[in-house]
Amino acid sequence: LLTGLIWISVLDERAVKHYRIRRLDKGDFFLTPRKTFSTLNEFVNYYTRTSDGLCARLGKPCLKVQVPTTFDLSYKTVDDWEIDRSSVQLLKRLGYGQFGEVWEGLWNNTTPVAVKTLKPGSMDPKDFLREAQIMKNLRHPKLIQLYAVCTLEDPIYIITELMRYGSLQEYLQIDAGSKIHLTQQVDMAAQVASGMAYLESQNYIHRDLAARNVLVGEHNIYKVADFGLARVFKVDNENIYEQKEEIKLPVKWTAPEAIQTNKFSIKSDVWSFGILLYEIITYGKMPYSGRTGAEVIQMLRQNYRLPQPTNCPQKFYNIMLECWKEEPKERPTFQRLHLNLEDYFEADSYSETNNLVR
Ligand code: AMP
Repeated sequence: LLTGLIWISVLDERAVKHYRIRRLDKGDFFLTPRKTFSTLNEFVNYYTRTSDGLCARLGKPCLKVQVPTTFDLSYKTVDDWEIDRSSVQLLKRLGYGQFGEVWEGLWNNTTPVAVKTLKPGSMDPKDFLREAQIMKNLRHPKLIQLYAVCTLEDPIYIITELMRYGSLQEYLQIDAGSKIHLTQQVDMAAQVASGMAYLESQNYIHRDLAARNVLVGEHNIYKVADFGLARVFKVDNENIYEQKEEIKLPVKWTAPEAIQTNKFSIKSDVWSFGILLYEIITYGKMPYSGRTGAEVIQMLRQNYRLPQPTNCPQKFYNIMLECWKEEPKERPTFQRLHLNLEDYFEADSYSETNNLVR
């Protein structure tokens, strides 16, 4: 509705199908021009009686789950967000990142949180606090909210909202993505683009956008995590190129100009977003698989780009190619990417068969 489009989503056994409801010039609603309705109520009444081309008759409306976004742990942590580490209980280790462990925790015995514990020496607390000050003020439903920090002693704790299903990279790989279809993939991309469009509007650069830094919550909610952290981590640049394990190669997500001249910008984030689209559409495959970072840098210099993956629609691939334009200025803005992805399924012309989006 935000973009002026109306869709109806029908749950048929276990699959959801989405249909675009169109309008005639005089405002009537229809799925097929042979049957039009002057109000949406009449539309719903009709398709409750007969499926007439829908995958099923309309039954009970599905409950819409509204998940409120919490920006602070309590009124006290709004300004005072250096908190006492004894108020945080670490319950279960969720994962292990390059810079330390991530735990599921409980704040004040009541609020579930995620706690990132940083390996001593991985960043200068002063640098981190300066960055955290900015991160604390970035607030958007598609960004992981920073709640509080414990920086007075090692290990530094970064306390954020907890996301039930962990990283998008792992989530895509579950059952080789057999339960994830194009509508959901486009939705993931649109949600990430929306969070990034907010960062763009705040003149903030992520620097490490990748599926491993997008987190998945309940009800198909996707949020961008770890924005800005790459700037404060002490990274051994030599190492980035020489890392043996593929997974530790942010080079494969990094725009050529950012690698060569360290020019990170929102446009280098757009390049990374293109790689993230590749991850989404391939269900979490490693980009440039089998190549080292140094090889990839060399290939990109010769204008090589990741090829169109099997099963990747041309339209989706075209968006990836736009993000990988050599000239940063020619890459789209996140605002444009967000709009394009939101309107992805809008058909150019009506036909009964293409009105249904699987
Ligand atoms: P990272 O250090 O950010 O790479 O995180 C390592 C792993 O911990 C990720 O791959 C996630 O599975 C998990 N993780 C990180 N942050 C969160 C969070 N806020 N909620 C739930 N799981 C998380």
